[in-house]
Amino acid sequence: MKVGLYLFENDCRLSDNPALTTLASQVDTLICIYLPTVNLWTARKAQCSPSFTVECYRNQTLNALHQSLASQQQKLYLLRDTAQLKALTEIIHTQQVTHIGRAVHPGFDEQKLWLKLQDNFPHIQYISAYSNTLFEPDSLPISVSELPPSFTPFRKTVEEIEPKLPIATPQLPPRPNRVSDLAEFKANSSYSIKVAAGEAQAQQQLQQYFQTDAALTYKETRNALFGEHFSTRFSPILAYGAISPRQIKQALTQFEQQRGANESTYWIWFELLWREYFHWYALKHQHTLFSFSGVKAKTPKTSFYPERFLKWCQGRTPNALVNAIMHELTKTGWISNRARQIAASYFVNELQLDWRYGAAFFEQHLIDYDVAANWGNWQYIAGVGADPRGGRHFNITKQQALFDPDGEYIKLWQGEATPQLDSQDHVGWPLEDN
Ligand SMILES: Cc1cc2nc3c(=O)[nH]c(=O)nc-3n(C[C@H](O)[C@H](O)[C@H](O)COP(=O)(O)OP(=O)(O)OC[C@H]3O[C@@H](n4cnc5c(N)ncnc54)[C@H](O)[C@@H]3O)c2cc1C
Repeated sequence: MKVGLYLFENDCRLSDNPALTTLASQVDTLICIYLPTVNLWTARKAQCSPSFTVECYRNQTLNALHQSLASQQQKLYLLRDTAQLKALTEIIHTQQVTHIGRAVHPGFDEQKLWLKLQDNFPHIQYISAYSNTLFEPDSLPISVSELPPSFTPFRKTVEEIEPKLPIATPQLPPRPNRVSDLAEFKANSSYSIKVAAGEAQAQQQLQQYFQTDAALTYKETRNALFGEHFSTRFSPILAYGAISPRQIKQALTQFEQQRGANESTYWIWFELLWREYFHWYALKHQHTLFSFSGVKAKTPKTSFYPERFLKWCQGRTPNALVNAIMHELTKTGWISNRARQIAASYFVNELQLDWRYGAAFFEQHLIDYDVAANWGNWQYIAGVGADPRGGRHFNITKQQALFDPDGEYIKLWQGEATPQLDSQDHVGWPLEDN
């Protein structure tokens, strides 16, 4: 009897999921488990746990996955213990697991867990696949270790390569008879936000986006701070893997065939390549994605200012635009790319804080949190990553004149400036008020 265990992480879908498809074809019974992302740096150093909005969005995504599985008489289970290796070990023993599958994850801790499983249970067959990237290492002319230090040479190397076509939803084997010791996922119906979540809604969002003309003007609108369809908003469904980047590329190509390709449609591809770059970057740089000097032997100039950090988190800095951005982030779990750049640049340059705490705060609050894109972009802005210019310092006054000239965004998110940056008040550490 071959017993399969599938570990869903950032691939919460059944279609275009090569590891799941391969595992399903090789086993007699199948157990599906969701493994939450763990970033030990964030958990230990910044003492962050996901915000309520992030919990809601995850709950919606898992509920959708649970329902997709139910349509095939399957169920989604959770680990009983937060110590993932211990909990998995127990399941492997009690269920007599013979095969384990998962999508390749760019996160260092997630990779460590996978390697540890292989060390501890060498008799098990392991099946993994690149489900959340456009390409696989075999289809690239360079290896992960040869990834260029900046985006442009990477883009030039890969942009003409066609990703594989997405694959169909597999027929899943049944659950084993004895699963009473597993913790079944139970949706909490009071946890809900109005953002497309899960595979069916992701496909709907994809279709709806390409039914509009938005893709034809994406390049001109993508830097906006707010409004409808100024960017694709695919990031939350991509982050949880409710959709694959290959499915998006396929829809984009179809759109270009029907409506015509232009610089804007190319730019959506360009941004998907940025995402791709950071995924390979995280795989290459491993734990240095989280280190203070990043991938450069350069130590940023920062000091320890708990009060500044608290004010940035709460949107109470002397800058109204930054405050509005932080309010939108903490209330909705999503902000535009330009807003992320402004908030991060202000954090690093004006507040002179350690970039990793900013990245950890984003991790805690973004519904589209993606380990590679988040920490890679923060490194870029802090000048310890992939930026060939050595970091970005946005002139916030100019940004405001360009992207919020009438102060509409600031008004919408109540971004009043507070005059003083540093007071004499004592702010304890770690912060308790977040
Ligand atoms: C400091 C900082 C932190 C960030 N953290 C995250 C994160 O945790 N998760 C995340 O998905 N993106 C992150 N980004 C990248 C980018 O801001 C978001 O992907 C984008 O704003 C999401 O909105 P969208 O889907 O409408 O993007 P669109 O503009 O429509 O782009 C389409 C897709 O391309 C990808 N993409 C676009 N820009 C980038 C980029 N700069 N880097 C990597 N991928 C990109 C995303 O998958 C996005 O969904 C971060 C950027 C910065 C500056």
